[in-house]
Amino acid sequence: MSARVLVSDDLSPEAVKVLEEAGLEVDVKVGLKPDALEAIIGGYDALAVRSATKVTAKLLERATRLKVIGRAGVGVDNVDLDAATRRGVVVMNTPGGSSVTVAELALAMILGLYRHVPAATASVKAGKWEKKKFQGHELSGKTLGVVGIGNIGSVLVDRAVAMKMRVIAYDPFISPEAAAKLGVTLVELDQLWAEADAISLHVPLTEQTRNLVNAGVLARMKRGALLVNCARGGIVDERALADALASGHLGGAALDVFEKEPPPPDHPLFAVESFVCTPHIGASTEEAQSAVAVAIAEQLAAYLQKGVVKNAVNVPGLPREVMDQLAPYLPLVEKLGSLAAQLAPAGPTEVTVEVAGELAAVPMRPLSARALVGLLRHFLETPLNDVNAPAIAKDRGMAVREVRSAESHDYASVVTVTVRGQGGEAQVAGTVYGKREARIVRVDGFRLEAVPEGHVIVCENDDAPGVFGNLGTALGDAGVNIARISLSRQEDRSRAFAFLNVDSAPGPEVLERLRRLPHVRVVRAIHL
Ligand code: NAD
Repeated sequence: MSARVLVSDDLSPEAVKVLEEAGLEVDVKVGLKPDALEAIIGGYDALAVRSATKVTAKLLERATRLKVIGRAGVGVDNVDLDAATRRGVVVMNTPGGSSVTVAELALAMILGLYRHVPAATASVKAGKWEKKKFQGHELSGKTLGVVGIGNIGSVLVDRAVAMKMRVIAYDPFISPEAAAKLGVTLVELDQLWAEADAISLHVPLTEQTRNLVNAGVLARMKRGALLVNCARGGIVDERALADALASGHLGGAALDVFEKEPPPPDHPLFAVESFVCTPHIGASTEEAQSAVAVAIAEQLAAYLQKGVVKNAVNVPGLPREVMDQLAPYLPLVEKLGSLAAQLAPAGPTEVTVEVAGELAAVPMRPLSARALVGLLRHFLETPLNDVNAPAIAKDRGMAVREVRSAESHDYASVVTVTVRGQGGEAQVAGTVYGKREARIVRVDGFRLEAVPEGHVIVCENDDAPGVFGNLGTALGDAGVNIARISLSRQEDRSRAFAFLNVDSAPGPEVLERLRRLPHVRVVRAIHL
């Protein structure tokens, strides 16, 4: 009997054809109410969805025959991943399926701005013929600055090079070798802001990228430069952008995404002629919608017929004994990866995960995978998990090393994560007390005992009296409450280190104030 596939969201006729031609029995039932879906799901081996069908734990309980769920698209928020994993159901998505489409919109925005297409259209429709006013610029020979060269940014690089642009890029998570393969020169962010004639943003919204383009950055851009954001709302300070356009400092800007969607009708940008926008339609082309549908159909067919797993986003089960031993360490290791990512120099090229002590006896692949999840999460938009993180790290040219040693002097088991890049390395280690209490026990050369959770300020300073008092006072004045403190110093007492768990995220002004305190060398805000 052939496997049965239920298509419960609008895929595409081509996708259905792919499934049928693969010899699968396909039922297309779009828009079923949850009860109706629950009533029939027990008869299917595979479920294909977009974002409308909610694949809940309750639905999965009835899905006694289900082996795989395919989501045509990236986000899998509509699927209860834990419940699917517990039931041994593989969940797949189609990352990168709309990259060409989004990159083309970014390019259209740049072309449209250079040639004033939207403003000129409005002018002609208003009965005017303003040839002089709408004299534009050529793309050819201009410098494009791309911030983030992942799935979408790298397609834009390719297209821009073909249009004879000089392309520079900033992406702290791509090795120069990987960038060279794309035909792009990696530069520091300051250089990109200063040199680019047009800038296009293709980064996820993270703590580092929120408000990345603020008034200060806009002021550093070339006079007449263009800015395009088809990534996420919140990366650009929209009010500062309106000011930079109104003053004539920027030549034009285009947004497909807004901090608040839809934006309010009195948005300050709407009054600016050199501002162009679209209603978050970056991924909306017939081709992209069809491409992700066909991709998921091919993935489902390959899995059902040959057992080939591609783009799985949930974790295959491990033997229970192994899981019991690893389970307390997995959240710790994810935090170690995250901490190392936030402390590491730009452009990490190598990650080493070292397990010492009792834990060295169990398979360590899940630990290194989980460290990569914690690390990559700071840079990537794609949902990450133990299955895809190692493959993504490899694709990005990152070497991953696993080291184990039976001896651990101070702890029953200790896991160390070291991230190396062009600018140096960051090394962090942690342990778990009594199966539950995770602790960071080393940050670079400093031994400590810190709780890896929430907002953290790390500070390196000269080992001099009064430094910690000043830090406490400055934080108190700023209304930032310290929840826990772990202090450490080097044996020769040249440097000291503080790991402060705080109740709220310190703003940039607070961090700047801390950096200006006497004897303070380095201050960083971390979120774990
Ligand atoms: P991706 O994860 O493949 O690539 C993101 C890249 O940004 C990575 O290479 C990463 O190393 C880099 N990066 C992370 N932090 C950075 C930083 N601080 N500075 C510079 N680079 C940094 O993601 P993608 O699929 O290319 O998507 C890029 C963006 O486009 C995301 O924000 C995504 O939500 C957005 N997107 C928008 C639409 C739309 O409809 N407009 C559609 C799809 C995706």
